[in-house]
Amino acid sequence: MGKIYQIAVVNGDGIGEEIVPAGLKVAEKVAAKYNFNIETSSFPWGAGYYLKEGEFMPENGLEQLRGFDAILFGAVGLPEVDDTLPAKDYTFRVRTSFEQYVNYRPVKLFPGIQSPLRDKTEQDIDFVIIRENNEGEFVQNGKIMYPDTPNGMAIETSIFTRHGVERVAHFAFKLAQKRRKRLTNVTKSNTLIHSLLFWDTVIQEVSTQYPDVEYNKMYVDNASASFVLKPEVFDVILTTNMIGDILSDLGGAIMGSLGLGGSGNINPEKDYPSMFEPIHGSAPDIAGKNIANPIGQIWSVALMLDHLGESEAARDIENAIGKVTAKGPLTKDLKGSATTTEITDAVVKAL
Ligand code: ATP
Ligand code: MG
Repeated sequence: MGKIYQIAVVNGDGIGEEIVPAGLKVAEKVAAKYNFNIETSSFPWGAGYYLKEGEFMPENGLEQLRGFDAILFGAVGLPEVDDTLPAKDYTFRVRTSFEQYVNYRPVKLFPGIQSPLRDKTEQDIDFVIIRENNEGEFVQNGKIMYPDTPNGMAIETSIFTRHGVERVAHFAFKLAQKRRKRLTNVTKSNTLIHSLLFWDTVIQEVSTQYPDVEYNKMYVDNASASFVLKPEVFDVILTTNMIGDILSDLGGAIMGSLGLGGSGNINPEKDYPSMFEPIHGSAPDIAGKNIANPIGQIWSVALMLDHLGESEAARDIENAIGKVTAKGPLTKDLKGSATTTEITDAVVKAL
């Protein structure tokens, strides 16, 4: 009888209902193989819940999640629900209240997948974006004044704290030590001369504690071009909440499909549960048809198990995904015709 992990499962909306169960099927397979146990509890929260209850999760939702080892999440959002709401409600509350200050987004070209960067191979595209996830540009602090008058104006203030920058920087440098020992701080301190100059200064200070990691700084305009022209220069990218949000989608795109990307919202100290989710949204346009690509969700399961200490099982899942992408079957987003179920079963079989 191995360890037991308690996992809170929030399918959310749209394809979340299909791909989260796919992820769990894979989790059960590796649990049996590596002799640990996954116990799940499901929570029916999201935009569908909002339409019935007037909120994305109950008032005491955070308390309900608090005791779990991790949260496996699909996606929230339905076309008929204002899309500024979920960010304020479910995901924002979980990320901030549980101090999930690291957003972890691996960018990797799986075997057999054609990147839109046609001359790039698996060796060229293999890096991780570490995005500060709790403060910065997304603290939602500001106001709109006289909006309906000629004098209308709006202010939005970013907040960067030494504590907040230091802790995410330490996580990123430690990660770089385990990888190819290269960290790139993506910033815009040449124009955001207060907030991001402070950001750079703190990161520079932290870098001196990791002399074995090659540290460099790149402005985001240049970094965007480099994502496309020479992604091979990156190993670990450390960046702010908003820059990371934007670059993550670019990272997802060069991987060949939005449906492939997994991510983690991580509280490294494990004081609170961390939350793992694919990088894409609820894709209402393809929901309910059993054609969504489950790989991003399955990869998120691997990231979750790695965080829980089951690194071998995590690596095994990544390898199994690679076996499936190399030979097929593939879903429609990758120009194949296989169903969600077929891909999931292929990954399980590869395990
Ligand atoms: P969000 O606001 O939640 O980020 P979004 O508006 O960016 O969502 P997504 O839901 O991510 O949109 O979908 C964008 C496009 O990518 C859609 O056409 C969708 O069908 C497609 N897509 C997203 N995820 C998948 C997937 N797992 N498999 C196949 N196609 C997908
Ligand atoms: Mg999006």
